[in-house]
Amino acid sequence: MNILANIEEIKQRMSHAASAAGRAPEDVTLVAVTKTVDALCAKKVLEAGVLNLGENRVQVFLDKYDVLGNEPRWHLIGHLQTNKVKYIIGKVQLIHSVDSLHLAEEISKKAQNSGIVQNVLVQFNISGEESKSGADADEAKALFEKLSCLKGISVRGLMTMAPLRATETETRHVFEELRLLSEQIAKEGYDNVFMEHLSMGMSGDFEAAIREGATLVRIGNALFK
Ligand SMILES: *Cc1c(COP(=O)(O)O)cnc(C)c1O
Repeated sequence: MNILANIEEIKQRMSHAASAAGRAPEDVTLVAVTKTVDALCAKKVLEAGVLNLGENRVQVFLDKYDVLGNEPRWHLIGHLQTNKVKYIIGKVQLIHSVDSLHLAEEISKKAQNSGIVQNVLVQFNISGEESKSGADADEAKALFEKLSCLKGISVRGLMTMAPLRATETETRHVFEELRLLSEQIAKEGYDNVFMEHLSMGMSGDFEAAIREGATLVRIGNALFK
């Protein structure tokens, strides 16, 4: 495993994809997903100048946090159980995986107890099939109306994952749908809701995601192969 070479290659591909889409390369941030490697290895990534690290499980995150502390900007990217919110508040910069009002309410509560404002993204599961519209627009509206009233939480954008085994066309469709949804939400002008981030794209599909407007790409395998 040559982490430095892998980082260089990924950064170049990100930069190319951004330029090809008429976007500035610095508008897309690499979040290195360190869930499959140990803290020492994550430290190498950090030392190579990749400051944003992503973890999908609370316990694995906490193990690395014990070693690396607040030096990285930590991203919690995996499903988050309500009862685990208390362990990560104040430690992670961005929670990508808010998928229910219930979870948002718990984050709001714990963040207020700690006297901080927690930045979050709202995760949508969007179907790759052209015929189905992805996120239900009415449902999204109701959710964001409620989110905009929560204290201790600030919504900074949206996150999605392309379905496993989706075709290239389906994957592109998913990313496009998320971008359209974020544009729609931005137009509503909700308090507390800023559509500045689209977290989409992983090792296998980050170039397509960048083409559709990703600002955060979450890459694991391609860095640690
Ligand atoms: C593991 C994971 C990634 C990274 O996937 P790779 O295919 O290893 O790049 C991105 N996002 C989430 C939510 C993950 O769990």
